[in-house]
Amino acid sequence: MEIGVSYGTAVKLGLIRASAIYPPNTAYLLLGRKCVNNCAYCSLARRENTLSRVLWPPFPLGMVREALEKVKFTRICVQTADYPGMEEDLLRLGGELSKFPNLTASVSPRPRAFLSELRDSGFTGVGIALDAASERIFEAVRGRGVGNPFTWEGTWRALAEARGIFEDVATHLIVGLGESDVELYDTIRRALDMGLHIGLFALTPVVPGMEAPDLGRYRTVQLLLHALKHDYLEDVEFSDSGRILELRLRRSAWKFLRDGSFAVTSGCPGCDRPFYNERPSGPIYNFPRAPGRPLLSEVTLYARVCVGSGDCWSTAP
Ligand code: SF4
Repeated sequence: MEIGVSYGTAVKLGLIRASAIYPPNTAYLLLGRKCVNNCAYCSLARRENTLSRVLWPPFPLGMVREALEKVKFTRICVQTADYPGMEEDLLRLGGELSKFPNLTASVSPRPRAFLSELRDSGFTGVGIALDAASERIFEAVRGRGVGNPFTWEGTWRALAEARGIFEDVATHLIVGLGESDVELYDTIRRALDMGLHIGLFALTPVVPGMEAPDLGRYRTVQLLLHALKHDYLEDVEFSDSGRILELRLRRSAWKFLRDGSFAVTSGCPGCDRPFYNERPSGPIYNFPRAPGRPLLSEVTLYARVCVGSGDCWSTAP
């Protein structure tokens, strides 16, 4: 059996001789070379061994397992393409990697019985991507609009069932698929209320005609997610069209604003995905660790931010 290994993971494992700018904390593997689904924004539906902007060179599983024994990762995350026989391969992989801690499978919505089998095989967590922030967008880019079998509510149902089986359950949300900010807000709240980890992604324009989101907007959504998660959002004001106009934060926000830690990669604990969405030369959407500088000026290019009782900043038009 062969398994794709993300380029950065392969370098850290010593499978590729190169130097890594930021060796990842999580080992990212890819099961399957090409996906039978047709998500409008995804490279794996179109080209082998590419997901987002990352290359996933294949290696024999035994070689990868041996290398994983020598190098420390806090988590292993197996991304999956859908193909005939994938479920059997994934269960086998769970058995092969079960001795490693925090083994996560990122899959499309699956029946409860299969999720239980996944846990029994050795996986400790699961990710089931929504990707889209609303039913409207989901239908157009991930659901029936592109001929896929997935539905919005079916994905939420699978996430709820996964929560009954696994401690770590994640979903992914992509900013830049045509959603409004208020749609992102509603979906982030619903996911947090269910106890899900949220991996926030900037659309990586690997498909012609698509564009990466505006950096100011992405920073604002990162701050919104972080503030909801860490309970320092006091209020948010939207325009009639659902655009964020103002974020009002409690004073405790300062510790995350000062070092930019609100813009660190979000998702399962330990998931850092260095340069998954962006070239190392930038602009950086998700920082694998706190950048150590305030990023408030990037947020205020898009929205007004108020902290504590009265100080507000805005350079937004
Ligand atoms: S948040 Fe990270 S570790 Fe969790 S399923 Fe997504 S990519 Fe994997």
